[in-house]
Amino acid sequence: MSMAATDSGPAARGSRSRRLERLAPGLAATLGLALSLVGCAPRAMDRTELALGTVCSIRVLDGASEAALDAAFARLRDIEATMSANAPGTVVDAVNRAAGSGAVAAPSDLRALARRALELAEASGGAFDPTVGPLVALWGIGFDTERVPAPGEIAAALPLVDRRGLVVDESAGTMALARAGMRLDLGGIAKGYAADEVARILTEHGVKAAVVDLGGNVKVVGRKPDRKPWRVGIQNPFSDRGERLGLATLPGGYTVVTSGVYERHFRGDDGAEYHHLIDPATGYPADGGLVSVTVIAESSMDADGLSTALFVMGPERGFALAEAYGVGAVYVRDDKGVLMNERARAVFELESGAFRLEAPVP
Ligand code: ADP
Ligand code: MG
Repeated sequence: MSMAATDSGPAARGSRSRRLERLAPGLAATLGLALSLVGCAPRAMDRTELALGTVCSIRVLDGASEAALDAAFARLRDIEATMSANAPGTVVDAVNRAAGSGAVAAPSDLRALARRALELAEASGGAFDPTVGPLVALWGIGFDTERVPAPGEIAAALPLVDRRGLVVDESAGTMALARAGMRLDLGGIAKGYAADEVARILTEHGVKAAVVDLGGNVKVVGRKPDRKPWRVGIQNPFSDRGERLGLATLPGGYTVVTSGVYERHFRGDDGAEYHHLIDPATGYPADGGLVSVTVIAESSMDADGLSTALFVMGPERGFALAEAYGVGAVYVRDDKGVLMNERARAVFELESGAFRLEAPVP
């Protein structure tokens, strides 16, 4: 969700150009052109819409145009229309409906994302698994159907979670699930992929500086007009929106992605809290005494998938995977201990006094 940060927070309201635009649109455009010709007026714009089941905001600080924002949001809707597992008519929905009975034509972007998800599934020993869908559906977390399943239901769903049963055929241009009841769910990686896509499209449209925030998946693009590094906040997982755990100081092209139990959770009839990061080995929400994992990287797709994987794996195995992918990782435990690897330590500063940095750092 929305980060409390200097650069990734809501755009400053009432900038000179916006006020002008409201007063005299023609004049603002002319002035904007004249100023950009002499190279001293970064053109800023921001837009927020609901997409991919979350609040998506794009804040352009330099090089903005309606065309750039239109193209970026069109791409988000396109990704949602292809990749959502929860809406009828998407390609992923078609793959799920055809589970056990055949392959479905799938566009190349979806095939590439599915293959990357399978690589991460392999690298994480199955902690991240794009075929976790039957368990996600069973728990129904985030939907009206959320409930604690009976142990028998979980036992029945577990064999349907099997990354080897997801077949991506590049020459045929298709995807298939091997057995009836299997279910593809790219919810753990699609927002990150979308953030990378938005960054690419903005740059193609001449955007020089922007913050892309897809429900807390934050990516900074280009160079800030003041030429300072970007500063992206990581949310304090114990507080409501707004307070920060700390700040990452990053060059353009970097992303900060957090998986936390606070994103989606519910209280079961048994009084216990259940969250939405499922351990495919047990069928239950991962139970490692963690509240959040943040990944700092260049690929938002990898960072998104890894934040989910690292959460499920826990710090010991998780830090090894972070090292293999060359990314920064910040673990926050429910006792307010914070663990970071070297790469995270180099860019992230813990601000809140309520937490303590644990040693040793891997
Ligand atoms: P959020 O969507 O809240 O930002 P994540 O990026 O961590 O959080 O993704 C969580 C989503 O990923 C879940 O809602 C579910 O769709 C999916 N998911 C849950 N557990 C796993 C898992 N072990 N492997 C892959 N995907 C998962
Ligand atoms: Mg994720």
